[in-house]
Amino acid sequence: MLQLYMPLHFLGFVYREIKHSLADMERMFTLLEENKEIQDKPDAWILDVKNAAIHFNHINFSYEPNRQILFDVSFDIPAGQNIAVVGHSGSGKSTLARLLFRFYDVQSGCIQINDQDIRDVTQQSLRSAMGIVPQDTVLFNDSIYYNIAYGRPDATTDEVYAAAKSAHIDDFIESLPDKYETIVGERGLKLSGGEKQRVAIARTILKNPAMLIFDEATSALDSHSEKRIQVELKRIAKNRTTLTIAHRLSTIADADQILVMDHGRIIERGTHQQLLAMNDQYARMWELQRQKEADQNSPLILTAS
Ligand code: ATP
Repeated sequence: MLQLYMPLHFLGFVYREIKHSLADMERMFTLLEENKEIQDKPDAWILDVKNAAIHFNHINFSYEPNRQILFDVSFDIPAGQNIAVVGHSGSGKSTLARLLFRFYDVQSGCIQINDQDIRDVTQQSLRSAMGIVPQDTVLFNDSIYYNIAYGRPDATTDEVYAAAKSAHIDDFIESLPDKYETIVGERGLKLSGGEKQRVAIARTILKNPAMLIFDEATSALDSHSEKRIQVELKRIAKNRTTLTIAHRLSTIADADQILVMDHGRIIERGTHQQLLAMNDQYARMWELQRQKEADQNSPLILTAS
């Protein structure tokens, strides 16, 4: 009974996490095999991801009847570009990522990748083309090696080591009692937020996906870790089609385009400079951040999350 209870208990835990964040949607699907509400069409084809360009086309969406969350949301992520989404807590930022990953289907409108509606392709091909670095990575109760290799189970040992090195987590792993065989996760060694995020980055580097979703951590890591992680994220996002859900404006000022969301609608869009010049919502958020930074002399969270 205990043997059955533990996995079920764990699945419940993972599911609760995912309901409220993007934490490891990839893993959720593997564990549950499939989401019963989302089915492949009988003639679903394999997504063509070459130079993936993403198009959100007049999306309306609600999780529950009578409570609409997204209202006529349209935007493009041209191939290789990074589009960042900012806005207050609950404005619908993570929902965009959940829909792109096809955790739910939209009620109207469509999401296209290279002109292919994501409902027309296999879920497997869609999700294997997408890497997610969530704000809080839930680790398997398994070795740290397994947790990284999960990004691409057929990777060689050298490739796993190289991914750990690129994510700047190799020195840390070498310092652990059993090195790569150290058990981590809920019942193993507890890792800090930054260490977990670096495991997620290593996993993503190994997976080498055409598209990326970054869900920036809401709680600031120490500024040294933060800077290193930001550098790493920028490096892996280079030339990949990327959706960044941002909580701190300072980290996305160089995004190709920034979308400002409010109550499920895009209320402003443009580059950092264009948005500042508009002197409206984004400019106010930026000013607020600047003031707080001056007060606290530390990076801060901007979206009132
Ligand atoms: P945050 O910055 O706090 O992460 P967000 O902008 O990413 O917020 P979303 O997670 O997209 O916001 O949530 C948008 C709205 O949808 C919120 O009102 C939230 O309560 C609601 N919501 C999110 N997930 C679900 C769900 N699984 N079922 C019902 N409502 C949900």
